Amino acid sequence: MAHEQLHEPASDDAAVCAYCGRRFVREDHLALHRGLDHADAITDAERDAFESARAEEREALRLFRLKAVFVLVVLYFLFFVAYLFAV
Ligand SMILES: [Zn+2]
Repeated sequence: MAHEQLHEPASDDAAVCAYCGRRFVREDHLALHRGLDHADAITDAERDAFESARAEEREALRLFRLKAVFVLVVLYFLFFVAYLFAV
């Protein structure tokens, strides 16, 4: 359901792939799609857009992993303290 919303937005100003016609809500999702699915056909400018969108995605993933590790460490200590008071 949510996956379909990524590719079939209701508005007409969506980003549309010139190679296969797939629609994307966000321009950077289109740039990632072009670089992954049409790597042999895209122009230099589209490749640049793909590279920068991929770099931004990697940075976002790195931040997400840091936050996830932080949450796990906090949870670990909360359970550790709860265990100390339970014994
Ligand atoms: Zn495409």
